[in-house]
Formats: sequence, structure tokens, C-alpha cells
Amino acid sequence: MTTATHRVRLPAAQQPPWASDERLESVRAGLASLPPLVDASAVHRLRVELARAAQGTGFVLQGGDCAEPFLDSAPARITAKADQLADLADLLATRAALPVVRIGRFAGQYAKPRSHPAETLADGTVLPVYRGDAVNRPEADPAARRPDPARLRAAYDHATRCLDTLLLQGHLAQGAGGAAYTSHEALLVDLEEPLVREDPEAAGHYSSSAHMLWIGERTRQLDGWHVRFAETVNNPVGVKLGPGASPDDVRDLCERLARGHSAGRLSLITRLGAAETARRLPALIEAAADFAGRVVWLCDPMHGNTVRHASGRKTRVMTDMIREVTDFFTVLRAHDVPPGGLHVEMTPDDVTECVDDPTGLATDALPRYRSACDPRLSPAQARDLLTVTAGLLARKDTP
Ligand code: PEP
Ligand code: MN
Repeated sequence: MTTATHRVRLPAAQQPPWASDERLESVRAGLASLPPLVDASAVHRLRVELARAAQGTGFVLQGGDCAEPFLDSAPARITAKADQLADLADLLATRAALPVVRIGRFAGQYAKPRSHPAETLADGTVLPVYRGDAVNRPEADPAARRPDPARLRAAYDHATRCLDTLLLQGHLAQGAGGAAYTSHEALLVDLEEPLVREDPEAAGHYSSSAHMLWIGERTRQLDGWHVRFAETVNNPVGVKLGPGASPDDVRDLCERLARGHSAGRLSLITRLGAAETARRLPALIEAAADFAGRVVWLCDPMHGNTVRHASGRKTRVMTDMIREVTDFFTVLRAHDVPPGGLHVEMTPDDVTECVDDPTGLATDALPRYRSACDPRLSPAQARDLLTVTAGLLARKDTP
């Protein structure tokens, strides 16, 4: 059987070297014939909620794992994550007296861009890198690391399990009711294209894989598949902006992804690093001046602040993250642009992945390091960062 799927024929960065084209095509055809994961109506409602964040009458909390494991589609796991997101959103909403939109990095955050295609183990063995559960498995074993197209179908099934639980527990945005929305990095061509559906609510198509999709720092090339794919769907989309992002990049992204759309369509997610935010953010904001009040500015204080712990693990320092959020608020307000929200990696588990201050970089070990990819905030660290953010948000005049 062949099923026509949405195709964007441009070079795509960060795609796994799938072993079999034939199996890949059959998985794609299967995905194209399945029901949508999310409804177009909730996708459109999220755009309206994001428009408020663009205008300063709402705020976004987007958070969850760096790499969501398939095992976490177990009901107790996804519920714990949705509860954490809801509690932190309540903290923000109460202290800042603003509606807070919850967007989980869950129910589909199964694919990871990587800086290197291979990983060298301590004994010198070289393995293909782990690219997220939608592609391969994290175990240090050649068979586990082989990209397997069957995992794309498994990703759909695990997302379904998460969504079913969220729905049953009243955690999912539905009909007119606002609860949590889902999001993930739109990375894999062969997962995203088959899940595009005709939009019953507006002209064109929407991605049924999540309410909101974002494009990562490593795949936001203006001539590549990812930005073009985002243009072809009506969902709200985000784009990560690292320290290498230029004002021209921002201008072009706004033209391509926000021009002709209502407010809330495009979120610019800055992850410049604590040391660079005050210096680099002003020119990026100025480059988006034509789209003021329509683009949402989100602060990701995690990805520009990744450093090595003495143990060799990747970590992040809370004081750096707090500084990046603080500078983000200061710079946006100096430009009379509302800070639209926060994008974080966090977990309801009591992990030791991020450290509280620079002295933590030299400790012997990070004993409860569980992330398969980047270091996440523990529940206490997430609460601390959100408390600082709520304070900044509540003081509308000067941060
Ligand atoms: C991420 O969000 O996990 C990620 C890889 O981010 P970035 O694209 O900003 O590096
Ligand atoms: Mn990450």
C-alpha cells in the first residue's frame, strides 16, 4: 500500500542514517493512515493563548525533559510531569497575577539533535550517538544504537498513551478548556511529514504530532527542510536562537514564519547564555521590531549555559540560569517588549543534574544523574527558578 504523505523536498540536517529505505517507507505509510494525535481546534486555541503572551497579557511556561523516554508514557510518569508543570504555572500565575499557558515538553519529545554523530566510550569504543527513543536506544551497545524505523511508529504509540492519560486526568487542553498543551522539537522528517493533516478549521494543513513544534538551534537553516516544513503548517512554531543567531536570521525567520499570520504564530526562544544575553539580545529584538506584539519572546536559560562538571558530565549552574532570565527581562523591558515566557528542562524526580552554584562543578560526583541527554532542573531548582521569574514578572516596571 502506498499512502501519499506531505513531503518537503529540501536537505534536512540531523537525520538518522536509517538502515532500510523500504521499511522506512512502510512505517511512513502506516503513520499517515493513523488518527491525528492532537486536534486542530486545540492547536488554534493555543495560538490565541500565545497571542496574549506576545502582548504581555499572558505568560508561557514550557517545560519537561530534554529527551523523553518511551518508559515515561506509563500513566504515573506522565501524570507526575503534568502535575509539576501545573504547580509551577500556578505559582507564576498567582504571584504575577497573569494567566499562564502550560506547554509540556512531553507526549512526543523523543528525538534529539546531536553535536557529534558518534560517541567514544572510556575504553575507546566508538558508537553511533543516541538520538532519542524515536530513533535508537541509549545503552552503550552497537545494536541498541542502530537507528530503527519501527521506533517512529513506537513514538506515535507512546505519544498516544501519554495523551490518553493526560486526557483522562483532565490535564490536556481540550475543547474550550485550557489545560496543558504538548510540544516537541520538530526534528525527524520521517515522523513529522506523515503526521501532517488537512486543517479542518482553516485553509491549509496542521501538524497533528503536537500542539506546538519548535525548530532547534542546529536545524534552523533558512534553506533547509525544518524552516520550510514549519511554513507549511498552521501550528504555533518556535525557533531556538543561540549566540550565533544574527539580526538577519531573526528578520528572515519572522518574514517566513510570522508574516501574514496572526499574533502567537511564532515564538523566538532565545538561549544565548548568561554571558551573552545582555550583549546579543538587543539587536535580535530590534530585528523583529515590525512584528512587535505578534512574536512571543521565550527565554530558554538552559541550553546556552551547559558546562562540564568535574565528573565529565554535562551540567548547568543555577546562578547562570537565573542571570540569563534576569537579563532577558531587563533587555526586553528596555525595548518595551513583553517577556513572553520561560522554556526549561525539568523533572519531577529528585535528580542531581544541574548544580546550584559554581562550587558544585568541582564536587566528586552527581549521584542521581538520570537524564539520557541534557541536565534537567530538579523539583526544588525548578521552583527556585520559577520563583525568581515570578518576581521579575510581578515587577512590571523595572526588573
Ligand atoms: C533542546 O531543547 O533540547 C535542544 C537541543 O535545544 P537547542 O536546539 O536550543 O540546542
Ligand atoms: Mn536539551
